[in-house]
Amino acid sequence: MNLEIVVPCYNEERNILRFYIEIDNVLNDDIDWQIIFVNDGSDDDTLAEIKKLENAKYISFSRNFGKEAAIYAGLKKTTAEYVILMDADLQDPPSLIPEMLTYIDDYDIVATRRVTRTGEPKIRSFFARRFYSIMNRMSDIELVDGARDFRLMKRNVVDSVLELNEINRFSKGIFQWVGFDTKWIEYENIERAEGETSWSFWQLFKYSIEGIVSFTVAPLYISTIIGIIFSIISFFSILFIVIRTLIFGDPVSGWPSTISIILLIGGIQLFSIGVLGQYLAKTYIETKNRPKYIIKEDNFN
Ligand code: UDP
Ligand code: MG
Repeated sequence: MNLEIVVPCYNEERNILRFYIEIDNVLNDDIDWQIIFVNDGSDDDTLAEIKKLENAKYISFSRNFGKEAAIYAGLKKTTAEYVILMDADLQDPPSLIPEMLTYIDDYDIVATRRVTRTGEPKIRSFFARRFYSIMNRMSDIELVDGARDFRLMKRNVVDSVLELNEINRFSKGIFQWVGFDTKWIEYENIERAEGETSWSFWQLFKYSIEGIVSFTVAPLYISTIIGIIFSIISFFSILFIVIRTLIFGDPVSGWPSTISIILLIGGIQLFSIGVLGQYLAKTYIETKNRPKYIIKEDNFN
């Protein structure tokens, strides 16, 4: 069996060796395995740590391009029949790999999901849950709550993922979008081994907007519908005011309500323009067609 393990790494100097040893421990000898580290422009000695491992392949970016770009770059370098994608911080337990391998004959993908979110701030879990429910209601793809990027894929799945060539990559959506038969394995959350998560709350917020904009145009419909509703309401209210004025004359009144309605409509307009702008901005970036990452060095030949 031929297996490649793609590992995006950003400032993981203290995890690289541990990660390698754990993988080496869980995989038995009849598997021909190869790790491909993608150093995503780390500021620390991640690359030096990777180079110490003689058997490991690596790609190193010219700067930090983000995990999504690192995943793409790593997958692109794979040639094996089976590919595993996992984090370097041991939050994706290598001990699950043998179990995952037992399912791959019957499925195209063996994916993992966390059933608990221990060690994560409550407020973050709350927003994460909301995000999944909103996203699933609006888009055609079904995101699985707690799904990790940690997964084992057959060659044709990897090729399909690579065919989705967009620059704004929302992997959770992309992995669902390509379809195939998926076996889900559940496990309890594990806190990262060393170092800190590089995701701030703001980044997660942007990431969720990314997900929505990449996989559904529902917000555009929603603002259109709000627009239609308000047009209908204002049509009738104009009719009402004209008739009332004709019958009762026009004593000046209703300033506060006029102002609040103007503010409300103004707010809705700005909101709709903002939604439109999100899609336009994504389109703008996609049309530039820049590379998703730049490789500074690697040890592929
Ligand atoms: N990562 C990356 N580029 C980045 C941020 C993170 O390659 O810009 C890698 C990181 O080294 C780790 C994985 O992506 O292997 C997940 O990152 P992290 O543990 O920070 O995220 P979390 O587990 O909190 O979702
Ligand atoms: Mg992590």
